[in-house]
Amino acid sequence: MVLLSRFVCTGCLLLALLSSPGTLRAQGPASDAKVGGAGTEPRTDDDGAEVGRLIAALLGDTPLERDLRQLTREIGGRATGSEANRRSVEWALERFRQAGVSAREEAFEMPQLWLENSATARIRGQGIEFTPGIAAMPFSNPAPSPGVTAPLLDCGPGGEEDFERLGDRTAGAFLLVETVPLLDIEGLFREYGEAFEIERRALAAGAAGVVYMSSRAEGLLYRHNASLRDQDAKVMLVMDRGAARRAMDLLRLGKELSIQVTLDLETGPAYTSHNVIGEITGSTKPHEVVVVGAHLDSWDLGTGALDNGANVALVIDIARQMTRLGIRPQRTVRFALWNGEEQGLWGSRGYTRTHAAELDDHVVAMSFDIGCGLINGFFTGGRPEILPTLEASLAPVRGLGPFVTLDVPIVGTDNFDFMMEGVANLVGNHESAEYGPNYHAQSDRIEHCDLRTVRLNAAIVAAVTWGFAQTDAVWTRQTRAEVEELIRSTDLEQQMRSFSVWNDWLDGTRGRR
Ligand SMILES: [Zn+2]
Repeated sequence: MVLLSRFVCTGCLLLALLSSPGTLRAQGPASDAKVGGAGTEPRTDDDGAEVGRLIAALLGDTPLERDLRQLTREIGGRATGSEANRRSVEWALERFRQAGVSAREEAFEMPQLWLENSATARIRGQGIEFTPGIAAMPFSNPAPSPGVTAPLLDCGPGGEEDFERLGDRTAGAFLLVETVPLLDIEGLFREYGEAFEIERRALAAGAAGVVYMSSRAEGLLYRHNASLRDQDAKVMLVMDRGAARRAMDLLRLGKELSIQVTLDLETGPAYTSHNVIGEITGSTKPHEVVVVGAHLDSWDLGTGALDNGANVALVIDIARQMTRLGIRPQRTVRFALWNGEEQGLWGSRGYTRTHAAELDDHVVAMSFDIGCGLINGFFTGGRPEILPTLEASLAPVRGLGPFVTLDVPIVGTDNFDFMMEGVANLVGNHESAEYGPNYHAQSDRIEHCDLRTVRLNAAIVAAVTWGFAQTDAVWTRQTRAEVEELIRSTDLEQQMRSFSVWNDWLDGTRGRR
């Protein structure tokens, strides 16, 4: 199974898509794209009072900051399958329980184990010797001690012409790929696209592995997403920019270098992981469900504050304040902390399988996964019927807007399997803030997160959650034929192909049957 580029957590990709309107097809004229306007006040005075109390509480002195500090500083990076990830599940259960929120863990299957224990490298040649900082790319092949030693070659930016220039020398060699410094989200998006082609060429050329020059600031490593993974995947890694620049310069001066790479990885077959689901049972429509979710797992180099601890803390805080204030929605609200997101959206996929019989009664599934910047809109998945409810929901927080809706389907975070199951879904969009430069990097830490903004986001998410839990508007789950029509009428197939989930849809691994 080709699941390597099941990397995801692609808030960054969502932003990239948003900033590249050519890749999106918004439905309806631009003037319809803005949420808001007249006639969107809360349904009743009681409703308005309840949501007002909830928003006021969330903007007050809540334990949100304490929670985020515990999750990021005490537990830290928490890749699915790791001990830290297991601790984060226990932590989240405890946070819900201490808040008086009913909570449970729900098992799902991860298709494979992949964790990095350590990664080291040494470059040698013609009197030269130094040890660059490196990180394995997700799903890289291991290189157990004493490691793999092979020639290191200047592969330029890794284009066709670079492979032609190197010719047969690529066989069995490590290819050092030059990158441009990452300036913005567009650059991140470009990196993803290029990596796919570079790795395809390296595989065809019989290389021992690919060494990417880090595109981030001096010394900063990130666990970028290897694009290819199949039975003969390579050793793939990122090297700190200063050391990679030094090696590249030496190679261009005609020095012959070799690199010894040691990747101590923990790999294994399918295993069980757990989502954490907090729940407030609906007062009058308990069988109807609104899901508000964020993913609990992170990559492990940083401490997972922007991606995605801030939104986890926010989801917990909403459940906590609703419970504390005795605010009970008409519909059941499930506060979902997904696992396995970074490695392929497996936790939310597992939920849609475990709860398959209830999906007809799932009103909406919301995902928040694009960092700590202010929420400035929503992707609503090509479901125009939910827009009036979204508009009405935002009335109490309209002063924090404007909010812009893009009614397009988006692949890259935990709305995906709900969308393919025909369940209405939305993804919060955020101002970029510091998301891009810290994405999946050692620098994904709480100090890059403005906690006042996270509180404002909690108010916005609470308002939308409440609106969907209370609305009288109705829409039905899409049939498979309707999901197919959504695919035909948008760029969804292209997105699914680039995330390697297209075959999963075709073979029934994912989506409505
Ligand atoms: Zn994420």
